Amino acid sequence: MTSVAARVQDKTLRFVRAVFSRYYRSEPPPPIEVREPQQREFAYWEFGKQVMVRHLSFQSVGELLRRLAEVVPLHAYRSSAYFRYPAAPMEEKGWEGADLVFDIDADHLDLPCADEHSYRVCPVHGLRNSDDGKCDECGSGLSDVEWVCDRCIEGARAELIKLLNVLTDDFGVSESEIEVGFSGNRGFHVVVYTERLRKLDQMARREIVTYLTCEGIDPSLLGLPWKGRRVRSLRRPSLDEPGWRGRIVRSVASQLERSGEVQSWLEDPDWGALRPSRWRELISRAISEERVNVDPVVTQDVHRLVRLPWSLNGKTGLAAARIPLDRVEDFDPFEEAAVLKGPPVRVRVLFAPRFRIGGGEYGPFEGPAEVKLPVHAAVYLILKGLATLASQ
Ligand SMILES: [Zn+2]
Ligand SMILES: [Zn+2]
Repeated sequence: MTSVAARVQDKTLRFVRAVFSRYYRSEPPPPIEVREPQQREFAYWEFGKQVMVRHLSFQSVGELLRRLAEVVPLHAYRSSAYFRYPAAPMEEKGWEGADLVFDIDADHLDLPCADEHSYRVCPVHGLRNSDDGKCDECGSGLSDVEWVCDRCIEGARAELIKLLNVLTDDFGVSESEIEVGFSGNRGFHVVVYTERLRKLDQMARREIVTYLTCEGIDPSLLGLPWKGRRVRSLRRPSLDEPGWRGRIVRSVASQLERSGEVQSWLEDPDWGALRPSRWRELISRAISEERVNVDPVVTQDVHRLVRLPWSLNGKTGLAAARIPLDRVEDFDPFEEAAVLKGPPVRVRVLFAPRFRIGGGEYGPFEGPAEVKLPVHAAVYLILKGLATLASQ
């Protein structure tokens, strides 16, 4: 990188840090809450540093907020685990349990929009594509852009709603023990605080993942018409049964309603109505639609660090907003998590598809151009690697 480019990068990073500091030093402070803070480990990444600062402990949320205001981190986390000595080295911390955590990320969902917004940019010429990963005009290395669109968010939200239903309906978790948050980028987090689940070990958490994702599910064990099961030997289906059997039956019913092939099935469900091979198709489809696509690694990990609610995500400048359970269906991350404030700023945008943030719509920016943007939009593009401060 030339020294001019490096200076622009430095200046841009200092600008983003100043915007973040306005957020962490605001009065009143951001509504960051942590349950049982004395037992948690805290951690953060600082601007421009390559190492995570870990093994921090605070006696209160107030103390934590003062540290965040002082440090102004790029990312900030707390442990899902409860420790006797949170500030001790890992092997001496004294693990006393961990919240059950789930991560749903649009990037892991194989959404059809992913191909439409996979971009590569040259730091000078903007949007470029080449097989060798170098700009065809200047030879600079191209970088991949992690773009997120409304369909990404809706895809992740659909998984989130399925997860919440299984947690409350199948596991009997009460709503007051569930915390839902936006990740600040392209997904959602769920934390379950239920005390009797805290001690679950890695294997038990792995089983919960298996249950959610239907890994290795055998429909014949649920009394469904599957390979080798004679239809007449099966219990009659009913739409209000619990667990996966009920969920699959309801999905099959709604598929039949859509296709119109068995008109009477909703009133009078009966395994005799179709051929076994057709049931297998309907059941396979039910499983692939109803399975909950959580990240297995996150849930199994009993030492996971999770993003502090209402801290800023350093990949976007959006807040990891808490979402009340009655707002899960209509929470709009590009509006409600766009918390950064400040005067509009001139940036040099390399490229950006049309996007909306904080009540406005911007772009598309086809090629490199200088534009004035509200601070949350400018920071969003900067952190995605698509803009730098304009040199004036
Ligand atoms: Zn180039
Ligand atoms: Zn998308």
